[in-house]
Amino acid sequence: MNADVIVIGAGIIGSACAHELARAGLDVLVLDARLGGATNAGMGHLVVMDDNPAELTLSHESLKLWHDWAPRMNADCAFTSCGTLWLASNDAEMAAAEEKKVRLQAHGVSCELLNAAALAAAEPMLHSSLAGALKVNGDSVVYAPSAARWLLTQAPRAIAFEQAEVTAIDGARVRLADGSWRSAGAVLLAAGMQATRFCPELPLRPKKGHLAITDRYPGTVHHQLVELGYISSAHHSDGTSVAFNVQPRPTGQLLIGSSRQFDTIDPAVEPAMLGRMLRRALDYLPALADLNTIRTWTGFRSATPDSIPIIGRHPQRDGLWLAVGHEGLGVTTAPATARLLAAQMTGAALPFDAEPYSAHRFQKTP
Ligand SMILES: Cc1cc2nc3c(=O)[nH]c(=O)nc-3n(C[C@H](O)[C@H](O)[C@H](O)COP(=O)(O)OP(=O)(O)OC[C@H]3O[C@@H](n4cnc5c(N)ncnc54)[C@H](O)[C@@H]3O)c2cc1C
Repeated sequence: MNADVIVIGAGIIGSACAHELARAGLDVLVLDARLGGATNAGMGHLVVMDDNPAELTLSHESLKLWHDWAPRMNADCAFTSCGTLWLASNDAEMAAAEEKKVRLQAHGVSCELLNAAALAAAEPMLHSSLAGALKVNGDSVVYAPSAARWLLTQAPRAIAFEQAEVTAIDGARVRLADGSWRSAGAVLLAAGMQATRFCPELPLRPKKGHLAITDRYPGTVHHQLVELGYISSAHHSDGTSVAFNVQPRPTGQLLIGSSRQFDTIDPAVEPAMLGRMLRRALDYLPALADLNTIRTWTGFRSATPDSIPIIGRHPQRDGLWLAVGHEGLGVTTAPATARLLAAQMTGAALPFDAEPYSAHRFQKTP
């Protein structure tokens, strides 16, 4: 079969790209080895992040698309528009919340400040010493593995899928583990952390994260709760860090994060790191001490040096396109990644400037 595009990887990024390419009228073949990737391991918080303009554009545009998709998604996707509360533990963090509010509102993101009393009313289980919060209304939650499946199976034009491991990319054709070849007009590499197997020149580093989930306690927490310090202690950090991040699942379970570690590819749960993460969570949500945690696991984010994904044409290899390096925000940013990539590949008008995401930014000038 000769497709217009072969997509390698059916995580949230490959699935969203396949969906958008099919929507643009292309014949798409998706190949996935079912290796289990970040999409299966992550938290699924859909959050507007504003560390830099490129991230803000990608996440904000994506949230709009998630809200467009939500009414059509099936119940398995567990889309919940719960909003995020960015928690301030003191006056300095409250000032940071105010600055964040101004930045987000300037981009049309709906948000509001809550003082200590309003925060206590919204989330009574939080520690009473908190100074307040910034509430971002449109932020949401999705169950990413189901959303990826929905994107593949509910595209406006049927997407072909093969469960197969790709072992080589040669121009616009790929070799599978059984030795057979598939060819197309172009190949899109969306293999998450595995992308460096085919493109070792890509500057991607694994960033390990731990998660824990409790038994069912409906009504304990109503919003995704994140400490404001998360931005500096976790997202920018180059070393090991933990930050308070709790998500209410529609089942009544609480999903607890987050930790970040470079320089390890060992998937084992590390008791010391998990303990550090849970102690941080108790600082904000003391009631967690009485709840039963039923499972813990780890996953790997694929991080670029500037924490912005690589979206677009491979700078040297004709026929090869890239959608990789989405770090801890790939579920959020999958829709706008896919819109941008599909526009680039089909020559349509770009939805926003593609330059900040180009692989060219990592090319060394002689
Ligand atoms: C602990 C943790 C928490 C997170 N929390 C959030 C969050 O709250 N919000 C958010 O937006 N993001 C979050 N993320 C990040 C998000 O999960 C990732 O950015 C996103 O899932 C990346 O998707 P992907 O499709 O690029 O990669 P992956 O999900 O890793 O998918 C890659 C796919 O490629 C396939 N593949 C690889 N090699 C081959 C091959 N040779 N042949 C065929 N197929 C192949 C694999 O089988 C896999 O299905 C989190 C990540 C982690 C680890």
